[in-house]
Amino acid sequence: MIDALEPTTAAALAAVRAACRVCRAVASGAIEAVIKADDSPVTIADFAAQAVVLHELQRAGALTQLVGEESATELRRDGRLAQAVLAAARVAWTDATVDDVLDAIDAGAQRPAAAPYWTLDPIDGTKGFLRRGQYAVCLAEVEGTTAVRGVMGCPNLAPDPSIPPDVVDAGGTLFVADREGPALQLGLDDGSMLALPTVAAALSEPVLVTHSVESGHTRVEGVARVLASLGRAHRTMPCDSQAKYAMVARGQAHAYLRIPTNPERVEMVWDHAAGVALATRTGMCVTDLRGRPFDFHSPAGLRDNFGILCVHPELHAPLLAALAAGA
Ligand code: AMP
Ligand code: MG
Repeated sequence: MIDALEPTTAAALAAVRAACRVCRAVASGAIEAVIKADDSPVTIADFAAQAVVLHELQRAGALTQLVGEESATELRRDGRLAQAVLAAARVAWTDATVDDVLDAIDAGAQRPAAAPYWTLDPIDGTKGFLRRGQYAVCLAEVEGTTAVRGVMGCPNLAPDPSIPPDVVDAGGTLFVADREGPALQLGLDDGSMLALPTVAAALSEPVLVTHSVESGHTRVEGVARVLASLGRAHRTMPCDSQAKYAMVARGQAHAYLRIPTNPERVEMVWDHAAGVALATRTGMCVTDLRGRPFDFHSPAGLRDNFGILCVHPELHAPLLAALAAGA
């Protein structure tokens, strides 16, 4: 199956795998967080993972324009930080120099006017990474309005979907949605691989729901109200990062809801493209809270979308109705 991947997807998979090794190496020690201008945390691993993904794509001749979350601006001001990022990047990019690393990070800080582009969140769920919980390396390619392929590395997510996301797994999991064919789940270390089935089964109860751990990222009480109005038994499994999309894609959860706490905030393309590609490929419905499909054409963000509803098809209409009724 892995031999059947398009070369571009295979390159993306190798890049994400390498970045996961970097993240794990950083997580094996004390993790220093720097606070960015938008008040969100970033770590050595975020920068090093972005450098390594860019390097791997470049090496494979697969790099076109890439919209990544990080830039090297701060590292060019702070030599100590730059050296720490270099040391982390060398876990996977052994002969890198500090200039190589800073240039690779900035090669991923492009902001083209429109698709096609790659998008990368080198560590989605940095808060989860910092608390040694779930986080994800997320890489996707966008054409037109759609994420046509995606790779997600979840170093702390158990391959076995019966193990909940609050259990940190030593093995870790990778997910791949090639341009065509089934979505794949791979072991991060052990060479295992399986094709994720496309949803077929009717939904069983309790309805399993995932949402952000951070109450600042989703209106948790709003999610609870919507679920109560469904009138079905349900259970929630909070989880950091786009691993939530993977949970729905592999049937570990039936729904991922994100109800914005700040209606003015525009969702970033790198926060969703890989997850949307993956969940869509297993037949899940992925729209915003008004039922509109995601429009990734602009790297500036999902300006015409509001919130996230990534669900088993049977739940899409009832949840949209509950949301429209203001539950
Ligand atoms: P999650 O782990 O699903 O809660 O989401 C992590 C992502 O939330 C990060 O990548 C951030 O880009 C994004 N984020 C940061 N602040 C907010 C906010 N106020 N509302 C929604 N999402 C946010
Ligand atoms: Mg993110």
